[in-house]
Amino acid sequence: MSEQSIGKNIQEKLSYKKKNVYEEATPARIAEIYEYAKGYMNYLDNSKTEREATEASIAMLCEAGFSEYRFGDKISVGDKKYLNQHGKSLIAFKVGAKDIEKEGLRLIAAHIDSPRIDLKQVPLYEDSGMGFFKTHYYGGVKKYQWTAIPLALHGVMVKADGEVVKVNIGESESDPVFYINDLLPHLAQRQSQEPLGSAISGETLNILIGGLPYADDDVSDKIKLTALSMLNEKYGVTEEDFLSAELSLVPAFKARDIGFDRAFIGSYGHDDRVCAYPALTALLNNADTENTVMVILADKEETGSDGLTGMQSDFLVDVIDEIAKNLCKSSAVVRSRSKCLSADVTAAYDPNFAEVYEKRNSAIISCGTAMCKFTGSRGKSSTSDASAEFVGFVRRLFNENGIIWQTCELGKVDAGGGGTVAKYIAKLNIETVDIGVPVISMHAPYEVVSKADVYSTHEAFSAFVK
Ligand code: MN
Ligand code: MN
Repeated sequence: MSEQSIGKNIQEKLSYKKKNVYEEATPARIAEIYEYAKGYMNYLDNSKTEREATEASIAMLCEAGFSEYRFGDKISVGDKKYLNQHGKSLIAFKVGAKDIEKEGLRLIAAHIDSPRIDLKQVPLYEDSGMGFFKTHYYGGVKKYQWTAIPLALHGVMVKADGEVVKVNIGESESDPVFYINDLLPHLAQRQSQEPLGSAISGETLNILIGGLPYADDDVSDKIKLTALSMLNEKYGVTEEDFLSAELSLVPAFKARDIGFDRAFIGSYGHDDRVCAYPALTALLNNADTENTVMVILADKEETGSDGLTGMQSDFLVDVIDEIAKNLCKSSAVVRSRSKCLSADVTAAYDPNFAEVYEKRNSAIISCGTAMCKFTGSRGKSSTSDASAEFVGFVRRLFNENGIIWQTCELGKVDAGGGGTVAKYIAKLNIETVDIGVPVISMHAPYEVVSKADVYSTHEAFSAFVK
């Protein structure tokens, strides 16, 4: 081996350089990374809505000995509990032996809702030989991406007597799927001149649901009646039951390996199940009984974290209050000593759209879990900017545990921007920084992540709760 020059030595010592997780990994480690991805891909396929993600997560928690907590229940050291917030959000916690007034809590907060197409409350109609559902999209979607792809119907309907019926059509191979029509290129001369944002309007996102007229000459709206009678047969529901329903169309695709080498995963809803799953596995694999650890899987992040199940609701602070009260501690003191990773995805640098990124400060795919010191837009507006000291703490923790990680900004200054739940947690006087998996084609019906970054995020979260 040739000796390194002094300059080269100094350069290595002084310079910062990102590392590619795959490049640093042995074949055995790559196998480990790919194995972990299988569990995640299974979670994805079973968690296409926040309700399903809540259920799938509870199943994992119960298998690991967690039991349900309801407000008012007693809490003591050693407890492993979860709060089910109206079936759409979840807080899991493990109470450790250390004094929480001294050590605070270790929190990881991800979200389990994803952009999609929701049904309106009076959705059903027919026109020109086709039955349709009217919709109102949920979250930040590029509408044109949702046309001409197979869609599955997920959700619940609450019947007149209060019975809740779960609906799931389009996931099984033998199920039919649903569809949003698009215009043929032959007649799209004007549409093609439109800006992307207005080429497909919100009110054209109607779902094609059928075309077989009900066999009775005495009735009108026969295709609609066929749909209603089939829904009635399968679920016992009527048209009025749509008024008290939450039904969503999500892509009918399954999670798949992407690439010859299977380095990436394509799926609907990586944002933000790709952080929710590692948060859960970090909690479940954690044998430590000292720290009090909490994982929050929140709803409504994609629409501003409002509402009963979003991070702006008081249910998080209420759970912390109850833990503190039961252990005869002050919630305010506990929160002031707590630390949180706001676990959300970021944009992976994409050379196909290089003009919106500043490469030095972008997350590079497969270079590990990505920390955003701040998010927001236009001069860091609306961000929870983590302190240098807290970033320093997390940096030390990751480096000491051999985690390959990177820092990033979402894109170029003034190219756009985005937010996370970090600021709502920081509002509770809890130190918080954003960290999560870089995503290609974020918010598209089929998003892409690197298996290496998913595993790196699991390792990073595991180190944080250890
Ligand atoms: Mn997100
Ligand atoms: Mn998002």
